[in-house]
Amino acid sequence: MTAPNPELLSLPGGPALVEWRRSARARRVSLRIDPRCGAVVVTLPPRAGRTAGMSLLMNHAEWVAARLAALPGAIPFADGAVVPLDGADHRIRHVPKSCDAGRRGAVWVADREILVGGDAVFLPRRVADFFRAEARRRFSEIVQCKSDLAGVAPRRVSVKDTRSRWGSCAANRSLAFSWRLVMAPPFVQDYVAAHEVAHLRHMNHGRHFWALVTELTPHTDMAVAWLRRHGPRLLRVG
Ligand SMILES: [Zn+2]
Repeated sequence: MTAPNPELLSLPGGPALVEWRRSARARRVSLRIDPRCGAVVVTLPPRAGRTAGMSLLMNHAEWVAARLAALPGAIPFADGAVVPLDGADHRIRHVPKSCDAGRRGAVWVADREILVGGDAVFLPRRVADFFRAEARRRFSEIVQCKSDLAGVAPRRVSVKDTRSRWGSCAANRSLAFSWRLVMAPPFVQDYVAAHEVAHLRHMNHGRHFWALVTELTPHTDMAVAWLRRHGPRLLRVG
């Protein structure tokens, strides 16, 4: 499992990124919003447990939801929005009457633009489907390549909207990836695929596991740092 740093929780007001902090100086449990990563920061004094933090979150669920919704930076799949694809910003553009749309499918990429044909009402759905399909295509390819190198065979590769994990490897050898990773740079996609493929050999995070990951992908440290820093932003797109 590769988890983003802040934890994604389902609160009564909707999903929220929650970052748990412990402070020796804090005298009570407190909540604040970190606008940089769009997370709720819960600070716990030395003797308070997670339960105390959860109950404060639940009691202030409406406040949290309102504050998060008011933050700038949530990016919808909409005409004119700029969203990352393979780590590079692309602008979504609605082209209702394009001939290309009929010939090449409803969504395609050209010159750093994601062009979307058809009716405007369906644009968000079309873009979401496009991102999922691209993620499925990329991860199938990368996993195939890494599996050959590692001499393992996954049962299947799927793409999900698991917002609390970037990738997972089940006991039945099925690998799953968050479609949101298609927005991350290729070296990050490569690392997450390598990480999950390595679990097909080692179902732990021990020394042999990490040695295999290092064999399978060149930029582990950089990718882990990238996910920690930019991962939360991926959760705010779409
Ligand atoms: Zn893992």
